[in-house]
Parts: sequence; C-alpha cells; structure tokens
Amino acid sequence: MDDCLFCKIVAGEIPAEIVHATERTVAFRDINGQAPTHVLVVPRDHYANAAELAAGDPEASAEVVRTAAAVAAAEGHDDYRLVFNTGAGVGQSVFHAHLHLLAGRPMAWPPG
Ligand code: AMP
Repeated sequence: MDDCLFCKIVAGEIPAEIVHATERTVAFRDINGQAPTHVLVVPRDHYANAAELAAGDPEASAEVVRTAAAVAAAEGHDDYRLVFNTGAGVGQSVFHAHLHLLAGRPMAWPPG
C-alpha cells in the first residue's frame, strides 16, 4: 500500500523505535504511549484490520499475538492488555492491522 503509514514503517521509510521483529511481524513503540509499555505489533503484509488479517493469513495473525507476548515478557510484564481497534467508530485511526500491547500500570475495565 503506497499510502499506508505502517507499511512505510515496516519498509524502513519512516523511523520508528522497533523493539522486535520476526519473519511476519514488526513491533515498535507507539508514538503516543498510553502506558509504560505501549507497543504496536503489525504484520509485515498489509491488511486493513485484525479480521482481514486472520482471514487472509492465519499464521501471521497468530505470530502477531506471539510477538506481543514475547515483547511483554522481554519488558518484564506478566500482566498486559492486547487491543485490536477495528473501525473508526471505536478509535481505529491507522488502517493497517495492529495489535496494541499495553502494560506497566493499573488498567480499568471496561475500557473507555
Ligand atoms: P489505532 O487508533 O488503534 O488505529 O492506533 C494507531 C496508533 O498508532 C495510535 O496509538 C498512534 O499513537 C500510533 N501512531 C501513529 N503514528 C505513529 C508513528 N509514526 N509511530 C508510532 N506509532 C504511531
């Protein structure tokens, strides 16, 4: 996707603080972190959201979750929250599937 921010981060065309990378995923810190650990895990290939990723590449979908777990462990967190916003109505602003990993502070439920 020519005009996709996260495709450009994956390609190295836009800088990001990359914390982990695998064959199918890249993990980098959110530019507007909402917790001591706030990392986004994206598939290298472009899918608009988590459901499209799961339908189109189930192995990459699983690898996104495994990558998030590996980053959480590396940063010393047993407890963490994983979020896929899907749709502008719930706050999705970048339409390249990404899993938010949030950890390192108390969190309320339900989310706001
Ligand atoms: P969402 O609102 O679920 O689509 O999440 C998009 C996330 O991308 C937000 O939390 C933003 O802070 C984050 N973000 C936007 N631009 C960048 C960037 N250049 N590098 C890292 N994170 C970004």
